[in-house]
Amino acid sequence: MNTGNPFSTAGRPRLTALALALALPALVSAATDSPEDSPQATSASVYADAIGSAHFERSAIKVEQGYTVESGNLYTRDGDTGSLVVVRSPDGSVTAIVNSPDKRGLLTVNAQGKSKFTEEPVVDAQENDVVESNEPMGVDSTIAAEHRYVDALFAYAAYTLGKLESDAVGYALAQTETVNLSLRNSRISDVSLRLAAVAVFGDSNKVLDTSSEGLDNWQSLLSPYRTLFKTDINAAIAGGEGANGRANRPGYTSVNVWWSPTTFAHEMGHNAGGRHCLEQDGVNFNFGHDNGKTKTNLCYGSRAFYYSTPDVLDAYGLPLGNAQTANMARVWRENTARLTGYNPELPGLRVLLVSPSGAQSEASTTLAIPLVIPAGGIHVGVVALSRDIGPTELITESAARETMLTVPLYNAAYNQVPVKLRASRRRGNCTTAMNVAVSCSPYDKLDFNIEYKASDNPALPVGYYNGLLKLKAKSPDSNWSMPINIVISARK
Ligand SMILES: [Zn+2]
Repeated sequence: MNTGNPFSTAGRPRLTALALALALPALVSAATDSPEDSPQATSASVYADAIGSAHFERSAIKVEQGYTVESGNLYTRDGDTGSLVVVRSPDGSVTAIVNSPDKRGLLTVNAQGKSKFTEEPVVDAQENDVVESNEPMGVDSTIAAEHRYVDALFAYAAYTLGKLESDAVGYALAQTETVNLSLRNSRISDVSLRLAAVAVFGDSNKVLDTSSEGLDNWQSLLSPYRTLFKTDINAAIAGGEGANGRANRPGYTSVNVWWSPTTFAHEMGHNAGGRHCLEQDGVNFNFGHDNGKTKTNLCYGSRAFYYSTPDVLDAYGLPLGNAQTANMARVWRENTARLTGYNPELPGLRVLLVSPSGAQSEASTTLAIPLVIPAGGIHVGVVALSRDIGPTELITESAARETMLTVPLYNAAYNQVPVKLRASRRRGNCTTAMNVAVSCSPYDKLDFNIEYKASDNPALPVGYYNGLLKLKAKSPDSNWSMPINIVISARK
């Protein structure tokens, strides 16, 4: 099986185009010049110092939420390997996760080019980081006709976000990709994780660290948001001095310290139903694997981004699992229906609007609305679903170039608070209020922009406001419409 190039012997699946959009729209864009169609890799000079002499072999690149996400494995002449995940934000800042035997940690490079490497300590302590749950393990190994997604809600303690020097979306995408790279490396091709929501929470009286109490508190705190966003799993990013992370097994919640970016792939393995390498009992197969040279995600210490499987060999030609004793690939297959089926996904498009950490809290995001434009063009505008939020009817023209929306978001006590947002629509060079349908060229692509400004909300108390805004793109020319889901985490 081993053809000389370790880790690629297994016939790495080509998943480049698997996860371009959060939801498949009813109409697919006919345009070919959007960034989604031709993602541009981040310059290697950005991470050159972090990977040293290793060669980065990219196995996936995609654009998600306007961010360019790429990942793959690292190869050196002596065969040692590791992995690299690189996420570039629309403003050019980069969040990268390096995981190699001699170096691992978090690399952040801000939009001005200032870089920082936070080394992840190797923790060999064999701490029990699992809280056994009453969730039933999946046993359904039916191969689905289509690729399925585990929709993830990433939640941050505000303190943590301040420490990260990365934005909440970029870090969440990088963490998500550590799991997706592990799945690809292990030839688990039917399922992957997808970032579906981000929420940030300010100071709390509750314990929100990686203790068992912290894990319970996160799960309770996130419960209503998980229902709101229709997400499957909770991934909390916290601070704390204790364990690197903790997870329910099997389950749907983990808590992970910000300074240990390889931990989430480990905890997600517990959520899937996996147990530690050292606990192999010779009877069950749901364990990670240490073959003496390479440790998979569910081991302690220096781990590689793999889930145990007998079907893939490491750089030394050694199998990364055993069908009887260490087969996390099978655990993932059997638990895919459970992990992807906690909530039916929201129909339509999904976009994230998240305040950055730091002095500025303004946030703005643009969503390209996929349109199949007929020969005669098509008029399209965006409306609210309730008059309390914004206009619910399309109009032909407007003097205003944007629409003020009043959106109920949730404060720390989970009470609804009205927050003002601005929305506009752009076709070609023409920008209008969001519900204008006729003005502007009916032949151009349509972008929808949404913006949060603290200055629009002078009476809003200081704090974090999370929630979901549902809008709808529609046309006066036909019955066509498309739901738009905007996941918001705004900071005042
Ligand atoms: Zn563990």
